[in-house]
Amino acid sequence: MNYLSTRGAGAGERHTFSEILLGGLAKDGGLYLPADYPRVTADELTRWRTLPYADLAFEILSKFCDDIPADDLRALTRKTYTAATYCNVRDDESAAQITPLKTLGVEDGAPLSLLELSNGPTLAFKDMAMQLIGNLFEYALAKHGETLNILGATSGDTGSAAEYAMRGKKGIRVFMLSPHKKMSAFQTAQMYSLQDPNIFNLAVQGVFDDAQDIVKAVSNDHAFKAKYKIGTVNSINWARVVAQVVYYFKGYFAATKSNAERVSFTVPSGNFGNVCAGHIARMMGLPIEKLVVATNENDVLDEFFRTGIYRVRRAAETYHTSSPSMDISKASNFERFVYDLLGRDPARVLQLFRDVEEKGGFDLAASGDFARVREFGFVSGSSSHDTRVDTIRDVFQRYDTMIDTHTADGVKVAREHLQPGIPMIVLETAQPIKFGETIREALLREPERPAAFSGLESLPQRFEVVPADAQRVKDFIVANTGE
Ligand SMILES: *Cc1c(COP(=O)(O)O)cnc(C)c1O
Repeated sequence: MNYLSTRGAGAGERHTFSEILLGGLAKDGGLYLPADYPRVTADELTRWRTLPYADLAFEILSKFCDDIPADDLRALTRKTYTAATYCNVRDDESAAQITPLKTLGVEDGAPLSLLELSNGPTLAFKDMAMQLIGNLFEYALAKHGETLNILGATSGDTGSAAEYAMRGKKGIRVFMLSPHKKMSAFQTAQMYSLQDPNIFNLAVQGVFDDAQDIVKAVSNDHAFKAKYKIGTVNSINWARVVAQVVYYFKGYFAATKSNAERVSFTVPSGNFGNVCAGHIARMMGLPIEKLVVATNENDVLDEFFRTGIYRVRRAAETYHTSSPSMDISKASNFERFVYDLLGRDPARVLQLFRDVEEKGGFDLAASGDFARVREFGFVSGSSSHDTRVDTIRDVFQRYDTMIDTHTADGVKVAREHLQPGIPMIVLETAQPIKFGETIREALLREPERPAAFSGLESLPQRFEVVPADAQRVKDFIVANTGE
């Protein structure tokens, strides 16, 4: 399996899965995609239907990765997708399913269900991919006798998923910047209570954007970056995307009895990583009817799928909402979809994303390409704080199920795209305890807390307060890498 850049630099220049595993953007600023999408055969689909999650993950990853020996890859997926890791299930569900499907009911003739992706260590769907990345990175680094210092900025979900995936991993250190005293008590405790010596929490005296600017400044110091082996695990990482393809298959099998059936998925979206994986599953031949992109008030993506206009927002135009993990100004994985939409024409992708940088966006409304959005199954919708609160309340009253704010955005938009007889699967991206304030507002009660998290906020915390100054962060890295 060969990978190429969406912007076509060095046409003919090909890379393997392992070569792009630890990297981010391609050299030309594009994103990596496989040269062709592997197809699943009818026989494979039948055989995969009954596989345990870890073995399904092995089958799917094998199609994208031919430079890790099969036995090693199988060992990595089995080590990652265990009932012990995805143990934060509710009620009497089986953790062995990894991503249980919870049926809500039938609405407008369509069976409506939630695919639970947030039963992992940090109670958000990012664990699904990040836990695999942790094991893949450790494996790849050990093979070449290398080390990696992961530097990131977080306002919550991504940083904690990365820390829980990398804790205790050989050859890896994590330096995670977060805004001092700006996260919820629960999220702060989740990150800062980690005592692993390879995890460093830096509480930056400033807001999230200050933390992100520091990461950019350090990464732009190429000499420092090379000397201290600085890397990232952001959402454009290809292995993260491909790991997410697996649960679309798992959800499809759980919601259907035969491979003649079709299903739709609704995906609470921010950087377009999750729904991009759904697009890839569909391109592989999984019988997906619609891919519904759900946004919150930050509706860059909804606007595109309704109008053909992609208009990125300035920081000042980005709303801070009660589904904060979807608060984005532009969608970093979107370029992968645009590449397919334009018939895989790298010269046009390059031009369009130059327009994004120079003019703040592009308009495909008048081009024939936009019509193809529906051929790819895409539709969309958006939500607001009020509809989110209403949906949390409605799902609780009607189905006795507590959902988080991001999943509520999904359910709200899913309901606008139901088709009789076609199961609608909403991806549940976080558990309610992570966004307790809105749960209390909607339900006038405390969010459900998985047993393993009782008393989390009173555990001892380990973090370092630093000023919003890139040099001070560099000094900290130098002092703590022993190199
Ligand atoms: C990251 C995140 C999202 C958005 O996912 P993308 O892959 O960025 O589209 C949605 N919900 C939650 C809870 C998240 O953490």
